[in-house]
Order: sequence, then structure tokens, then C-alpha cells
Amino acid sequence: MRPTGRLHLGHLLGALPNWVRLQDRYQCFYCVADLHALTTRFDSVESMKRDGIEMVADWIAAGIDPERSVVFRQSEVKEHSELALLLGMLVPVSWLTRVPSYKEMVGELGERIATLGFLGYPVLQTADIILYKASRVPVGEDQLSHLELAREITRRFNSLYGEVFPEPKAILTKTPRLVGLDGRKMSKSYGNTIDMAEEPEVVRKKVMSMFTDPARKRLKDAGHPDKCNVFSYHRFFDTPQEELDEISLGCRQADIGCTECKQRLAARILARLDPIRERRRELLQEPGLIEDILEGGRGKAQEVATRVLGEACEAIGI
Ligand code: SF4
Repeated sequence: MRPTGRLHLGHLLGALPNWVRLQDRYQCFYCVADLHALTTRFDSVESMKRDGIEMVADWIAAGIDPERSVVFRQSEVKEHSELALLLGMLVPVSWLTRVPSYKEMVGELGERIATLGFLGYPVLQTADIILYKASRVPVGEDQLSHLELAREITRRFNSLYGEVFPEPKAILTKTPRLVGLDGRKMSKSYGNTIDMAEEPEVVRKKVMSMFTDPARKRLKDAGHPDKCNVFSYHRFFDTPQEELDEISLGCRQADIGCTECKQRLAARILARLDPIRERRRELLQEPGLIEDILEGGRGKAQEVATRVLGEACEAIGI
């Protein structure tokens, strides 16, 4: 995950629970992809580091266990860069220019991001995966094409130099589609998110600002819960079925007001966030703790990375 700073409810319901569960079945490597971030972030590296720390605090508070999983910073395991360079020697440029997200992002962010590094993003991503001989990668449906490219690159390496790397397969998990507070796609840049670490007053305030059924302007107007974002959030935040039925009927008969409905939702969200915020506070209160965790992870990652890169170099003959 790129160091984006504090994570939000989309992550809490999306990637993170999946990552936490995978720890029971697999040896997992979770990496702060700071080299990838350099392709589009041109602000200070210091602020990127801080964002990485905030993000790792969220991971751990949500249940990633650095004792069981390897949690590290990509840039601190230099083998990622070296393997990406070697893979770059065998990846045709045409494979990269046809990646749809490349053109989309250049169109969105402008030519200044059309660098060699950004074009080669999928090559570095492949290195991130196969450097640990990963058999599985947890991805969302939108990332499947990237993984397919990683598999193609892996096959090309293996066919040229011998079977060094297993072809990584996807672990596809359906995650709930949580939209932003205003009903648009959830995105920090739209300012329509609630951070996992958000203080209770802020959570309440943000929930009260959520868009509801546009047809329900006054308390006595009947509402349509199926058209209301607040109602869909109720489902995601464990409101029991009985209460959902009550809200649904109350809304349609104009017996319950949006203010009460939102207050109840805020309480549900806070019940999920309170322990995470507390754990996060403890983690960040201890000076250097997250850095120590990342350093421990770097050691474990490097052990594997050095061995596997050595195998790759030997296969190539360098
Ligand atoms: Fe939405 Fe609840 Fe208001 Fe109905 S009562 S429109 S479900 S916020």
C-alpha cells in the first residue's frame, strides 16, 4: 500500500480485514510502497515518511500483527529496485504502454508524471511480489489486470532463465462498496471520508453531514431507505436486522427523522473505531515503536529478498 497517511472507513471495511484474516493461513508480507509513491508524490520525503508511520499504525491497530507478518518499507530493501531493474531488461515497452491506468493517470495528472519510473510501475510491482516467491496476492477486481501482467513478466523470466519464480495467483475478495459521505466515490481528495483515527466529535459531525434520500426534505416526507447512503452505512456497520427493519419502516412512514437515524449510525461507527483509535494512540505514544517494527520487518524481508535475488542472478548468470 502506498504511504497515504491515515486510512479511512473504506480501508477498514475493504483491504484490511482481508489482510488480517490472511495472517492465519499464510506467511504475509505487507509493505509500505514508498518507491511507488515517488512516481506521483513530489512533496517532501519527510512527510511521506510520516504518512507511512501513520498508515502502519492503522494497520497494526486494525489487527496486522508484526510478529506474524513481515511489515516493512519497500525502499529499505534495496533488492526490490535491483530485481525491478533486471526485470526491466526483458519487459517490452508495449506491455507497459497498453496498461489502461497508465494513460488514465497521465491524462488526469498531466505529462509531468509520464516518467520512465511511472511507466515501469508494473515492473517494480512484479518485483515486489516475486522477490518473496509469493504464491498469492490479495487484490481487488480492479487490480487483476496488473497481476496478470506480473504473471506474464514472471513467465518471461522463467522461460528465458529457468524456473526461478512461481507465478503469483490472485486472492480475490469481494469487499463492500462503501461510497463517500456525499454519495460520490470515497476519496480523500473529495474530502468525503472518515478516518479510522478520527476523534468521536468529528465522526459525529461528519455523519450528521451525510447526504440522505434527496426526496426527504422535511421530517414528514416519506423516505426511501434503499436510496439513502446513511441506510447503506447502517448495513456495513453491523446494525442488527431488527433495527434495520425498524429504521426502514420508520423512514418510509416518516416516523423516524434523519437526525436520529444518523445519531444511531454514528454510535455504530464509533463502536468500531473506539478500540482502534485507542490502540493506535498507544502505538504512537511510544517513541520510535513503529520505526522499530519497520526495522524488524526490514531484517526479515531482506533475508528472503537477498536469497531470492541471488537465485535470480545465478539463473541469469551474473
Ligand atoms: Fe436515510 Fe435514515 Fe433519513 Fe431514511 S431516516 S432518509 S434511511 S437518514
